Amino acid sequence: MSDLFDSYPYQDRFPVLRGLPEQGRPRDEIRAELATMATEEDRAWESGQCSGTMYCGDHEHYDFLTEAFGRFAHQNALQRDMCPSATRFEGEILAMALDLMHADAVTGTTPAGLVTSGGTGSILHAMLCYREHARTVRGIDRPSIIKPETAHPAFAKAAHLFGLELRVLPVDPQTTLVDPAAVADAIDETTAAVIASAGNYPYGTIDPIAEIAEVTAARGVGLHVDGCLGGFLLPFGEELGYDIPPFDFRVAGVTSISADTHKYGYGLKGSSTVLFRDQALRNQSYFFVPDWSGGKYYSPSMDGSRSVGLLASTWASMVSLGRAGYREHAGRIFAAAAAIRDAVVATPELRLVGTPTFVVAFTSDVVDIYHVNDAMRARGWRFNGLQYPNALHLAVTRPQTQDGVIERFAADLREAVAYARDHAGQPAVSAALYGGLPGGMTADASVFITAVMRQLLDAQQSVPAPR
Ligand SMILES: *Cc1c(COP(=O)(O)O)cnc(C)c1O
Repeated sequence: MSDLFDSYPYQDRFPVLRGLPEQGRPRDEIRAELATMATEEDRAWESGQCSGTMYCGDHEHYDFLTEAFGRFAHQNALQRDMCPSATRFEGEILAMALDLMHADAVTGTTPAGLVTSGGTGSILHAMLCYREHARTVRGIDRPSIIKPETAHPAFAKAAHLFGLELRVLPVDPQTTLVDPAAVADAIDETTAAVIASAGNYPYGTIDPIAEIAEVTAARGVGLHVDGCLGGFLLPFGEELGYDIPPFDFRVAGVTSISADTHKYGYGLKGSSTVLFRDQALRNQSYFFVPDWSGGKYYSPSMDGSRSVGLLASTWASMVSLGRAGYREHAGRIFAAAAAIRDAVVATPELRLVGTPTFVVAFTSDVVDIYHVNDAMRARGWRFNGLQYPNALHLAVTRPQTQDGVIERFAADLREAVAYARDHAGQPAVSAALYGGLPGGMTADASVFITAVMRQLLDAQQSVPAPR
């Protein structure tokens, strides 16, 4: 695992560029350098011991997508006269995603969507549309949005960028779900949209969306379902008979859904969908400059030029898998998640947080969960650290469905808990990076931790200085 503060991670092996070299280098030399970095970095997840991150992990699938990407990477989706393929790819990606989200149940409006650069992009576009709708249609000066604490930080980013007031609701510590009655209480005349997750990132749990939708529909406010993580997985879980509460357009009050093609859609990184019950809401992100000297400018979203390559590769991923392909992968993922859950339940020192779907989150009331993480890290596992309460999660992806991974998890977990018992009272190494402070986040702690995160960003975003 590389040092997060290291600004020059490859300086021992490769030259550090401090400016644009006068002479180019031979392609083969560059190829070899790229191959070395990529091959070594892929080893971190190929074992199946890495939570989330690499949703597909099938190199043959990646090669196929890269081929599709390569054919269109240089084309610009803004210039449809030259690339009508972009209109086909984008329209069909959205048709497939809307189909998956049961847009066929929508009556009275025309469902629509946008293909964006990722989950954050989808969430930002949805929140922008709600803001514009609130301002222009409902006459709300400073609109607000309401999110359960567990909903993704991209909603806070949207509030920050778009001048929305963000209201955060606590969740039940046992179920990790938001209370629809609390949502009802939080809605007022400024509310542009309520957010619910299917499932949320920390625990993979699904908010009571049908109940929340009754509240939002009665009050005439939007309901955005964040299916960035679960959007391309949960529908197949439902088809396979798993207990998945309703979250898609079959729920009448759901007005938009984000679903990431670059997660369980198994596409390349940099693509996602945001889907709207009503095209009129989607169109709030349109932008026009009719009188610019450079010509008439219009774009459907916040982006300007976009690579058609990502549309082509996302389309290729979906078309090559089909419902049957997705269902088969989902079946293995849900089965692996259930087996991982069983291994946690079989360990008396550990306790599940929420009811697992395809994310298994666990904590301990007996040992320091970060000691467990330390020992699992030493055995090659990479979990995500959660706080309030301190916990770990494993978002199950296709690499975990390989033979032997579950057995390795169960065996390593037993040893890790024994390690945690042996080291009781000593500080855990990974707590510094992952852990929440006991007693919650005081203002002082927040300032301190933000300063550390700023140093991390400064290190990671640093530019090699000229010599
Ligand atoms: C990953 C994720 C996002 C944000 O997606 P990015 O692709 O990282 O921008 C939003 N919501 C949930 C639930 C997620 O898991």
